[in-house]
Order: sequence, then C-alpha cells, then structure tokens
Amino acid sequence: MSLRKDEAIVLSKRAYGESDRIIHLFTLAAGKVSAIAKGAGKSQKRFVNTLEPFNHIRVEYFDRHNRGMVRIDNADLVSGNDGIETGMKRICSASFFTELVDRMTREREPNTGLFMALQEFIALARSKDPEYPDILSCELKMLDVLGYHPNFDTCVFCGAGIHDDEKIYFSRERGGILCGTCARSLPHRRWSAGLMRAFLAVKRNEAGFGTRSLEREAQELMEGFLAYHIDLDLKSYKLLKLMVF
Ligand SMILES: [Zn+2]
Repeated sequence: MSLRKDEAIVLSKRAYGESDRIIHLFTLAAGKVSAIAKGAGKSQKRFVNTLEPFNHIRVEYFDRHNRGMVRIDNADLVSGNDGIETGMKRICSASFFTELVDRMTREREPNTGLFMALQEFIALARSKDPEYPDILSCELKMLDVLGYHPNFDTCVFCGAGIHDDEKIYFSRERGGILCGTCARSLPHRRWSAGLMRAFLAVKRNEAGFGTRSLEREAQELMEGFLAYHIDLDLKSYKLLKLMVF
C-alpha cells in the first residue's frame, strides 16, 4: 500500500453506509480514480466541504496495487465550487462536463489536457452563466484531447483544402467536412455556408455565432457528431438542452 499525492477534480460523491462516502475523482497524475472517504459523513471536521462535486483539491490517498478503489487520507481545497450553485445554466453545464469526463475515460488513464479543460470550464461556470459558445469551446477542447476532434479544415476523405465559403458538407460518420467531389459519393449533410467558419472562430475563442439560427445548426451538428462517436445518453445532457440550448 502506498501513499500518493495528487491534484484532482471531484466528479461525483455518494453516500456509502452511514458515515462513508464514495468519491469519483479525476486526478491529474492518475486519471479517474474511485475513492472511499471513511468517516466523511460523520465528522464535520474531517474533509469539511472539500469532497464536493466540482471542487479542485489536493489529495493524499492510499493506493493498493495501482487498481481498484483507493482510500482518501487527506484532502484540502485548491478552489471550491462556490458560484456554480447560483444558476441552473452553471450547474447543468458543469454537471454535463463532469459526467462526460467520467463517461469518456477509463480508470487510471491520465489526461492532462482533459483535466485542464474541465478545470477551466468549472472556473468559468463559477464566474458567469455559460453561453453556448463557451460550452462548444469546451466540447471541442475535450474532443481534441480525447482524439475525436471534428475536422473543419480540409476534406476528411481526400485531404483537399476547401475555401471557407464552400465548407458546407459534413460527414458525422467520417468526422469532418467533405469537398464537393467527395460529397457526391459519400453520405453527408449539407449546412449553411458560414457554419464551419463559425466553428473555427469559436475554437480560436474569437467570436460567437452571430445569429441564433447558425447557433442552432451548430448545436444540431454537434449533437449528431457526439451521439455517433460517443455515448451521449447522459442525464446531464438532457438537462443541459432543456436549460441552456
Ligand atoms: Zn474530398
């Protein structure tokens, strides 16, 4: 049994027996880890407010054989979750990203980029109501570090460069835009001219969508893409759609 020190974001917490809690942590060095916090429900002094969802913490835990559940020995706060509880948009979007990280990663697979993207989004949701471009920007970052990033630059099939105004065919199966030639023979959906340019701008943190209809198209395209490539059957996604989209 060894004692490890790490940073982590609390993904979820649930009661276990009368006084213990099971915590899902996304740690910086070890990836997702399930942990038991003994006595966390009993003593107010132990782990006071540190093991709440969305918290960024420093944690010390006992690990047995690098697998299975770990036992939290000590935890203190780097930054808390205050601010998130002040609005449904904040709660729903932060819940969506913590659930997405939980669903998209296997235990003990560290991913620094994913940790940073989640941490950044939680910090944003503490300070303001996230708008759709904020959510999309985080989705794109996470997809990127998980290896699923949609290609908005070149034809995903033949690699040809495409002028921004002609980026209108998108194949969710192949994960990107198609040139006019490839679109003749491959399944795709046609979107408004300007949509892919808007995606690229959001990716560079430059601008929003300008019009509500373009934003709706972006939501539709992303939902199709996410549902095809990853499991989007998340409770938090349904809530997010209801509250934010
Ligand atoms: Zn092509």
